[in-house]
Amino acid sequence: MKKPKDVGEYIANAPKGVQGKLKDLRATIKSIVPEVTESISYGMPYYGYKGRLVYFAVMKNHIGLYIPPPIIEQHKKDLLGYTTTKSAVHLPINGRLPMTLVKKLVKARVKNNEDVERKKPETFKICSRGHEYVGSSPCPICWPGHKKVK
Ligand SMILES: [Zn+2]
Repeated sequence: MKKPKDVGEYIANAPKGVQGKLKDLRATIKSIVPEVTESISYGMPYYGYKGRLVYFAVMKNHIGLYIPPPIIEQHKKDLLGYTTTKSAVHLPINGRLPMTLVKKLVKARVKNNEDVERKKPETFKICSRGHEYVGSSPCPICWPGHKKVK
């Protein structure tokens, strides 16, 4: 599969039968956090909000929903019956997506990221693309030349 340039293209490249599910996932994530940033990261649809929020990807036999720790671990009881790893849950590629569960997990991650931000000193920043850095100047990863300007 060629590298998609954005999430729209990723979905368009996906098998016909799962495109509707991916659109639902995308719409659900955006409905929870309207200000979320969307891009392709590691070849997968990526969403950022005060840091990493969630990724998803079509695999051969499931749709992977990736949420950085400790969210999956915290929702073990909700995830009985699903294949999970420390940072992923395998959603069914056939049949209905458990949207209530997806919402719960994404909301938990939103809260986690907001809490983490609140605990950080004020000089700690996260740019619109999700890079974390210290200081009041523009993000040094997005603007590597900034420091050289005299
Ligand atoms: Zn940046």
